[in-house]
Amino acid sequence: MFEKILIANRGEIALRIQRACRDLGIRTVVVHSEADRDANYVQLADESVCIGPAASSASYLNFAAIISAAEVTDAEAIHPGYGFLSENADFAESVEKSGFVFIGPRPETIRLMGDKVSAKQAMTKAGIACVPGSEGALPEDSAETVKIARKIGYPVIIKAAGGGGGRGMRVVHTEAALKNAVPLTRSEAGAAFGNPTVYMEKYLENPRHIEIQVLSDEHRNVIYLGERDCSLQRRHQKIMEEAPAPDITPRLRARIGERCVEACRKISYRGAGTFEFLYEEGEFFFIEMNTRLQVEHPVTEMVTGVDIVQEQIRVAAGEKLKHRQRDIVVRGHAIECRINAEDPFNFTPSPGRITSYHPPGGPGIRVDSHAYHGYMVPPYYDSMIGKVIAYGDNRDQAIRRMRIALSEMVVEGINTNLPLHRELLDDTSLIRGGVSIHYLERKLAQRAAEREANS
Ligand code: ADP
Repeated sequence: MFEKILIANRGEIALRIQRACRDLGIRTVVVHSEADRDANYVQLADESVCIGPAASSASYLNFAAIISAAEVTDAEAIHPGYGFLSENADFAESVEKSGFVFIGPRPETIRLMGDKVSAKQAMTKAGIACVPGSEGALPEDSAETVKIARKIGYPVIIKAAGGGGGRGMRVVHTEAALKNAVPLTRSEAGAAFGNPTVYMEKYLENPRHIEIQVLSDEHRNVIYLGERDCSLQRRHQKIMEEAPAPDITPRLRARIGERCVEACRKISYRGAGTFEFLYEEGEFFFIEMNTRLQVEHPVTEMVTGVDIVQEQIRVAAGEKLKHRQRDIVVRGHAIECRINAEDPFNFTPSPGRITSYHPPGGPGIRVDSHAYHGYMVPPYYDSMIGKVIAYGDNRDQAIRRMRIALSEMVVEGINTNLPLHRELLDDTSLIRGGVSIHYLERKLAQRAAEREANS
């Protein structure tokens, strides 16, 4: 096992990874920007190294600064967390070439899955159904593109092969709109992701987002840890997740889980990963694979009892997975609310000092957050300041506990989306469960219209 790991991330996930390391008896080095100097997880780490100014491009995305921090501190492995460099194949390669272990899949796997066109091709080959769409990238010829769209049937969605974070997608309802949409998405994708390749999918009108968590070691052991439902999204970004997914039967779970395990074997996957699907009328359609730890991993941890971060570290150290498939039982229900520093109505970011902070507690409540009384939320990064996770024997109890937790939680001095979460936990469709990926946007539009009418 490693003696020392460098954590190349910030915020709640830097703290989460640190906790896993401590549990395993591993020392930690945290790298941080000038803006994160005073963060609690920086103080808590065994060692810390400032790697540059606030701008991510000069710090959290700076390969050379991170790798030299590992060199000067004698760390053996680097955990990239999520976001930043976690799915950057070139970074993973540089880490390994410099003699360190990258806690994640092999660079070639990250590259294969990082391009959504090649990912879909690999999955089709591995026997996994994808959302119907273009065979590979869209051609330059617009007449060809029109033909492809006719065959798929409108509405269609144009997606960037290199896209991520819910960006680089455009829904197209008519042939007239298609002519402009393709070049526009192409040029946006080129500017945002450095890759102008786009592809086309059928735009599904009523799907749910359901994903499967997998773990693989280097001894050909692969397991799946059940599914998560992440359908509650705003601008294609998840805000609340749960495990298990409502109405997914054990049989359906086993069928899709086993498919994912088989696909991992075919591509010699290593570490933790997530297969993302759109689920409609009993069918799963693959959309992409994330080759890293996900923000919403705690709901799976709560219902399976598996510490996913510790497993990632074990696998990276060459050890065998601690669990076998037959040991994995999905028990109870867990829900996660992402707490963001933003206006709960218009969603503008709300950085600044937290003047009062009280996290919730009690049976079944887990809070993964780096926030504290007096913490200064910097304006430079993602607005998420933490996650509240509620576990219950069943879904009803998880919802009840989440309601209590949200009513106890206090964050003052900045705006947060706590009021929105409290509202959502009283929403009848959400309480029933199984809403589609479009549900939240529709609800938010209605809410905005009502506020407009009342003002
Ligand atoms: P990203 O990598 O940016 O997260 P994804 O391909 O995972 O992009 O898609 C993110 C979200 O966008 C999905 O969860 C879903 O809500 C929506 N989406 C993507 N593809 C489709 C599609 N073919 N039809 C309808 N919605 C889609």
